[in-house]
Amino acid sequence: MDFSNQHKHRSQPNRCTVCDAPIVINPLHRDQPRICGNVQCQTLFKQQHSMSPALYKQHFARQQQLILQKRHVEVEKQKHIERLKQTEHAENERIAAALKAYVAGFAHQEIRVTQLPSGLAETAPPEPDRIDAYCEHLQDVISQAEAAESFESLLDGQHSVLHESLINQDQRLEDNPALAQGVQQMCGLCKGGCCSAGGNHGYLQPITMRRLMEHQGMSAESLLAYYREKIPQRSVVGACINQTREGCSVPREFRSDVCNFYLCEEVEQYLDSVEYSESGNTCNLVVQREHTHWNRFEAVEKNPVKLIAVQNEEGELVPLAHGEWLGSGGD
Ligand code: SF4
Ligand code: SF4
Ligand SMILES: [Zn+2]
Repeated sequence: MDFSNQHKHRSQPNRCTVCDAPIVINPLHRDQPRICGNVQCQTLFKQQHSMSPALYKQHFARQQQLILQKRHVEVEKQKHIERLKQTEHAENERIAAALKAYVAGFAHQEIRVTQLPSGLAETAPPEPDRIDAYCEHLQDVISQAEAAESFESLLDGQHSVLHESLINQDQRLEDNPALAQGVQQMCGLCKGGCCSAGGNHGYLQPITMRRLMEHQGMSAESLLAYYREKIPQRSVVGACINQTREGCSVPREFRSDVCNFYLCEEVEQYLDSVEYSESGNTCNLVVQREHTHWNRFEAVEKNPVKLIAVQNEEGELVPLAHGEWLGSGGD
């Protein structure tokens, strides 16, 4: 597809010369180049100063085509994500309606739907290459931690925010045991749908190691030995080396702040809705889908339903047999 020919408005004064995106013109600087804030458009524009006009013309046409192709792919991807979200949301609504209609005791309840992903299931002994890569990562972050002045010196802006957010989240869950139990139940059902991106690093960073050196008095050697010892006999295939079907093989205080803080947006929304709900008559309905947290948008039409569960009065998630009572809503 020739994207450069799709520009109906390229010559218009309030559009980017490269990608045709709308731009705001400063009325005091009307003679400024018509280039949007996109880094690629800006770079292409600046390159004219380092080339002859003839060469730049060819280069411009080629690069413009690539930029537009990339933009097109991105727009289509976003549309696909929106379509999936809408399809899955509509199906969740049908499941909630069916629950009210066909299952005794739910007719007069408000239903709050939480859609969960699924952790990967296959496990295998981690290959020597994986173990080597992980140990190299450990050695690297431990050396950086050793070389740092202190824990505080490693707290850059991003880490400070994360560290503070973790402290607040821990406090929030400690103050409200029902919330903590909700998280435990949902993550227990999901089995690490967010750990599939942990690779051979487990999000461990120099700051994690420095914290352990200062707070637990651990040496570089003992840290390396500890983490090596925690590598499980069988790891979940295609996920973090520390992920097992029973959970993370590394105890919480030895995990990174990223791992200890991260909650997927579905669980975050659940927490907010429980905490701020004024209704005492709300039932939590969990619709678990088959993909992990990270590949959920790779589904073609929708991510299939794997399990449906409701939270009972004790806060436990009780799976419901689904099929007959779901009518057109189930798989
Ligand atoms: S935070 Fe979300 S994705 Fe991660 S284990 Fe819990 S439910 Fe699964
Ligand atoms: S270290 Fe543990 S919590 Fe973190 S990604 Fe790996 S398995 Fe998940
Ligand atoms: Zn542009």
